[in-house]
Amino acid sequence: MEIHELTLTEVQDLLDRGELSGTDLVEGLYTRIDAVEDKVQAFLELDRERALAEAKEAGKAQIAREADPGPRAGVPVAVKDNVCTMGWKTTCASRILFNFRPPYDATVVARLRQQGHTVLGKTNMDEFAMGSSTEHSAFHPTRNPWDLTRVPGGSSGGSAAAVAAGEALFALGSDTGGSIRLPAAFCGVVGLKPTYGRVSRYGLVAYASSLDQIGPITRTVADCALALGWIAGHDPLDSTSLAAEVPDYRTFLRPEVRGLRIGLPKEYFGEGLDPEVRGAVEKAVQQLEEGGAAVLEVSLPHTEYALAAYYLIAPAEASSNLARYDGVRYGFRGEGSDIVELYSDTRRRGFGDEVKRRIMLGTYALSAGYYDAYYLNALRVRTLIRRDFEAAFQKVDVLACPTSPTVAFRLGERTDDPMQMYLSDIYTVPVNLAGLPALSVPCGLNHEGLPIGLQLIGPPLSEGRLLQVGYAYEERRGPFPRPQL
Ligand code: GLN
Repeated sequence: MEIHELTLTEVQDLLDRGELSGTDLVEGLYTRIDAVEDKVQAFLELDRERALAEAKEAGKAQIAREADPGPRAGVPVAVKDNVCTMGWKTTCASRILFNFRPPYDATVVARLRQQGHTVLGKTNMDEFAMGSSTEHSAFHPTRNPWDLTRVPGGSSGGSAAAVAAGEALFALGSDTGGSIRLPAAFCGVVGLKPTYGRVSRYGLVAYASSLDQIGPITRTVADCALALGWIAGHDPLDSTSLAAEVPDYRTFLRPEVRGLRIGLPKEYFGEGLDPEVRGAVEKAVQQLEEGGAAVLEVSLPHTEYALAAYYLIAPAEASSNLARYDGVRYGFRGEGSDIVELYSDTRRRGFGDEVKRRIMLGTYALSAGYYDAYYLNALRVRTLIRRDFEAAFQKVDVLACPTSPTVAFRLGERTDDPMQMYLSDIYTVPVNLAGLPALSVPCGLNHEGLPIGLQLIGPPLSEGRLLQVGYAYEERRGPFPRPQL
């Protein structure tokens, strides 16, 4: 079997048994990258030599620790390009950071390195994670490995496409309003958005700080459990990070759902939902019911306001976070005879259209005279949405619904109409507004052979339970096909 056909869990076993090394993995994955990357274009930076050097170093450090019989490591991880990596560029797919090499590692990356893992390459994304298709990358779009004329979803489209195409076993993504789950659904892979604060965001370039979370994208739920364990946990460098202990998520991998209560939020099955997506999600839920879960309808009555609230709160925070890109300290520098001209030229030429749109929307929503009408009301809606979820979790253990109302759309299909693009996030943004964990698991292919995602949502810190339900579903579903490339 080729390395790119293995799961992360299988690779971990081979590493533990000493039958595979980190350098073998880099070689194997780069062989696959050489074969398919021209078509998929999932990466912004690839560097075989650097990846190999990192793997060799990590291998040596491991031998030095030989006395310690802990699990072996050495997995090269594909990292979304808004996560800071020493030695590798971190551009956020923006011209304004086209040459930025961070002087430090994000905590997630540092943690992976401490355990002996390394960086494989940096993956493409929508500029500053603003988008749902990866077409807003300043460099090039990524293509969906299942159909190269379609988008991989976004904004972590490069990460999801890399895993789907077998170019990586595990990729990091970030999710502010769906950016892990949507591309996972479109690419037929597993994506987890952890509870707000579960994974450190130190070194994640901020988009909307009250919503951003880093999480894993893998091929299977078991792989996701393994990867989450590597990155989760408290970090004193991130004041929003939670102190809660990290369980061994693999202990939740039991195909058992007897007695579990699954809620179907009726607002997530309404107008605009593709009938084939609905069918696949309903079938998945039925399989869980056959396994002994109780299924009941619930209501999240404020769902219809979530998208509007999100597209005020996220741009408002972005407009503030992005104020730091002024051409003075790092990245692209424009021209000007005074500081104001320098700022405006840098930002005019450095930012893409979607980023500018968000900055304008956010600045407007925060401006005196409009603050109460827009930003403050959006915050009120946010509270109502959180309460909807709290009430639902009095009745059920997890919620099941589609990740996205449609399958992957065609490249170019939604770029002219921002509203159409925003509508892809209708089932994912409420989770971020409420700070909850949610898992997307592939649950079928439509008549064109495009993947469909089942979204499982749980109360804060219920990642283990979500992984259990996802795993139980996966066991019933059977192996998911892989795209032909
Ligand atoms: N598509 C959403 C947006 O553009 C979500 C992006 C994300 O989660 N980073 O804001």
